[in-house]
Amino acid sequence: SNLIEMRDVGKRFANGTVAIRDMSLTIRDGEFVSFLGPSGCGKSTALKMISGLLSVSGGQLAVNGHPPGQGRDNADIGFVFQDATLMPWATVFDNVYLPLKLSGRSRAEARSRVEEALAMVGLANFAKAYPRELSGGMKMRVSIARAMVTRPKLLLMDEPFAALDEMTRAKLNDEVLSLWRSHGLTVIFVTHSVFESVYLSSRVVVMAARPGRVVHDIPLPGGYPRD
Ligand code: ADP
Ligand code: ADP
Repeated sequence: SNLIEMRDVGKRFANGTVAIRDMSLTIRDGEFVSFLGPSGCGKSTALKMISGLLSVSGGQLAVNGHPPGQGRDNADIGFVFQDATLMPWATVFDNVYLPLKLSGRSRAEARSRVEEALAMVGLANFAKAYPRELSGGMKMRVSIARAMVTRPKLLLMDEPFAALDEMTRAKLNDEVLSLWRSHGLTVIFVTHSVFESVYLSSRVVVMAARPGRVVHDIPLPGGYPRD
């Protein structure tokens, strides 16, 4: 079924910048889609509208049949930002616990979920560590665990690995693919790397800037092996 429907969606910021013009897109359950394009083409803005962090200024957008952030549980969406954005004063456990804490769960209730999420990213033994003790790749894994701890259907990733070295990035690409496969996720992965988009996704949505818009929507039927 269709998870995301965008019909002529636009975004104009208060200062007059048109970040997105007439974006129309349908994303089905279980797809792994990349948004590929140069800096400023509206990739982040599109993700933020899909997650409900930003409102749309025109057109229609539905996630699971509802406008984002309405009539549905936000916990169905996991968001991984460009930097790991961890709280430096909190342990790995507490960083991953945060979304569950915000939804009112006690630490005791949340424990097994947090442990499950840390195990997913190979960091089961790092619950008591602090972010400063971790490598860049490990911090990013914590950030992925934090996004997965609510067991989302939809994982939105905004240039997550741009700051990492190539080896770490390659490992994390494979880890994201195996998460996607094993959890029945729908993933939207924002990148300006052609390699990354083709390696990861079964569909590449190419965007251009000024104004931000979709210029190609390319299925990759012969892309990365699906199973
Ligand atoms: P990308 O993620 O593709 O680099 P963005 O979605 O961040 O692009 O930005 C798209 C356009 O919108 C850019 O021109 C950017 O400067 C502008 N923009 C982003 N956020 C804001 C904002 N809060 N206010 C005004 N303009 C913004
Ligand atoms: P990455 O950058 O992908 O996290 P690195 O190979 O740069 O991985 O690892 C940096 C340090 O962290 C190394 O000493 C590595 O052994 C250690 N490390 C990374 N991931 C783990 C893990 N899951 N368990 C134990 N040690 C790890």
